Amino acid sequence: MNESFLGGALTINNAIFDALIAGTGAAGYNAAVHLYDRGVSALAILSENRLGGTSRNAGSDKQTYYKVSCAGAEGDSCREMAETLFAGGSMDGDLALCEASHSLEEFFHLVSIGVEFPHNKYGEFAGYKTDHDPRQRASSTGPYTSKHMTERLEAEVMRRNIRIIDKTRVIKVLVDRAVNRAYGVLCLENGKNFVVYLARNIIFATGGPAGIYGMTVYPQEQFGASGVLVKEGVAFANIAEWQYGIGSVAFRWNLSGSYQQAIPRYVSVDKDGVEREFLSRYFSNIRSLSRAVFLKGYQWPFNPEYIQNEGSSLIDYAVYVERHINGNRTYLDFTRNAERNNAIGFFLPDDIDPAAHEYLKRSGALGGTPLERLMRLNPAAYRLYKSHNIDLARDLLEIDVLPQHHNGGAAVNIWWETSIKHLFAVGECAGTHGFRRPGGSALNAGQVGGLRAAKYIAAHLKFDAFFETKDAVEQALEAAGKFEREFVTGGGGNAEDLLRRIQGINTVSAGFLRAMDNIDRGIEAIENLEVELCGVNTENHDPFFRVRETRLFSLLLLGAIRYYIGQGGQSRGSYLIMDKTGGVEPGKQSVPEQSILGLPILGLPFLIDNNFGGSILISHYDPETGQFVHRFRPVHPIPESETWFETVWHEYSTGKIFNGE
Ligand SMILES: Cc1cc2nc3c(=O)[nH]c(=O)nc-3n(C[C@H](O)[C@H](O)[C@H](O)COP(=O)(O)OP(=O)(O)OC[C@H]3O[C@@H](n4cnc5c(N)ncnc54)[C@H](O)[C@@H]3O)c2cc1C
Repeated sequence: MNESFLGGALTINNAIFDALIAGTGAAGYNAAVHLYDRGVSALAILSENRLGGTSRNAGSDKQTYYKVSCAGAEGDSCREMAETLFAGGSMDGDLALCEASHSLEEFFHLVSIGVEFPHNKYGEFAGYKTDHDPRQRASSTGPYTSKHMTERLEAEVMRRNIRIIDKTRVIKVLVDRAVNRAYGVLCLENGKNFVVYLARNIIFATGGPAGIYGMTVYPQEQFGASGVLVKEGVAFANIAEWQYGIGSVAFRWNLSGSYQQAIPRYVSVDKDGVEREFLSRYFSNIRSLSRAVFLKGYQWPFNPEYIQNEGSSLIDYAVYVERHINGNRTYLDFTRNAERNNAIGFFLPDDIDPAAHEYLKRSGALGGTPLERLMRLNPAAYRLYKSHNIDLARDLLEIDVLPQHHNGGAAVNIWWETSIKHLFAVGECAGTHGFRRPGGSALNAGQVGGLRAAKYIAAHLKFDAFFETKDAVEQALEAAGKFEREFVTGGGGNAEDLLRRIQGINTVSAGFLRAMDNIDRGIEAIENLEVELCGVNTENHDPFFRVRETRLFSLLLLGAIRYYIGQGGQSRGSYLIMDKTGGVEPGKQSVPEQSILGLPILGLPFLIDNNFGGSILISHYDPETGQFVHRFRPVHPIPESETWFETVWHEYSTGKIFNGE
């Protein structure tokens, strides 16, 4: 059926899918495979760009997958892993238990389809420790773990002939408000045509909302679609919790692991071309500086707990000040060690911190330049930049402190269903993490979420009579018409320009340094953009929808940060709340107070927060009233689960496990 819509054609497909998945990253593909294998074959995957997304296009020095430890004599258990995840704070215990319990199932699912996680000759999948990990639970296939996962999962999707509908962006979820249920999606195809797909179940696997910021470590291709969920009133959990860290800007890559363990020089260049080693202003001697740089390899995300005592996160802080306050460009230099005339002394291998010294010595990487150390530690790390035309043997590597991961997202229950029935969120667009999480737990959560949603959908499908009594096509037409009416009129703004302005506001107001004044200013500025919102451009509708989604998401995000600070929330996770209440001195050196949009930067005290670790901040936009609503609720504890085999067997085989939430 064809209708006219926003100057183009609107096609409504009469076919009703059992499940539609949005997103061709590791999470979306995995959900599709599990659905198919459980008999749900009226199934399709929609993607704005099959080759886009974070999983396929991002990585790091040693990209980590987190799971229950299964090598060596050191014991581990699902419960212990759940406790580690839960200890991250502001995380639900029931979700932690699910993510831990299915971790080996999903890890070995990936192994079985050909993801080459390494094991020894006896078959032990040896692990290593990642950040916030008390055991050696992490595994990796190298810098491209998530890419390998995506490619192998895609091959499984193709092998099953699951339909992939590419170049199709979901711009609206169709929701029957009377029963609070999703029943389809409205999509934009190739930026121009509109298509409605009807479905009994919809799984969002659209990744992190990277497009709300200007510059990030996310791959350029990833924009995200969390704003589409906001618009429908989906509840979000921990929306304010992001992860930030040092990344390169010319080619987007996070600079963890051996890039820091090689102890490069941190330099800045001012507008007159004068170069200086700016970290020497923050560290009292070469040992503490080299220790902090070395530790950054493991402690990559910015963490306010690692600022004091010249910790590794003081580096992020210093980079920010040097770049955004002092207005200089910031770089890593692998070509030489610190200069003789450096205020803090010579950089000779024997000068460095003993722990770093021992590690480099054992790795046969002591001495020489940072580049020589890098080449001995991890030559692939050098080759990676070379393949993007950056030669670390010659070039300075430009860096900034950048957003990398959204720890929050759509709030989900233990089957990864959102606050709207039959609408699921898996992967990074789901908000299952606490404010602190072990490195690698994002990839695990993405796989487990898809498995859980698939199990639940398969179990409920035959009892779902919704479409038998509904004229869904008529309802979809009505919803699309209502949606269209919102858009026909508009101000004279240019969508791309408006988007850049919102991104700029978020970079300042919702970055890793946060201050109440700044957030108020940010909200006001975004609200004022309303009048400029552009009307439709019939050549390419894409920017037009993106700017509206981003605007709504940003207002919910900034409102959540404001609520958190207003309730007394302090620095935690991966951000610093700047206020004047007193507390820990950030570093011994004090840089004169300066400002960016009024944000006081250094010499200002801050507190580390532990008060809200037992709560989750739930936020939603109310589509009826246009209000943004925020509230804390207590975390769910880790359940005292039933593990008596006969009982579990009965509840599993009768499908009782799927009843209730
Ligand atoms: C530099 C970097 C390093 C990282 N390292 C690690 C690590 O070591 N360990 C770890 O656990 N995690 C890591 N992460 C995080 C992890 O990679 C991501 O969280 C994960 O890959 C996200 O997978 P996903 O399938 O949820 O989303 P993505 O892989 O981002 O896929 C999203 C998909 O949705 C599609 N899409 C988006 N919007 C729409 C729409 N409106 N309609 C239709 N399709 C849409 C996209 O085209 C894409 O196909 C890292 C992230 C970065 C950026």
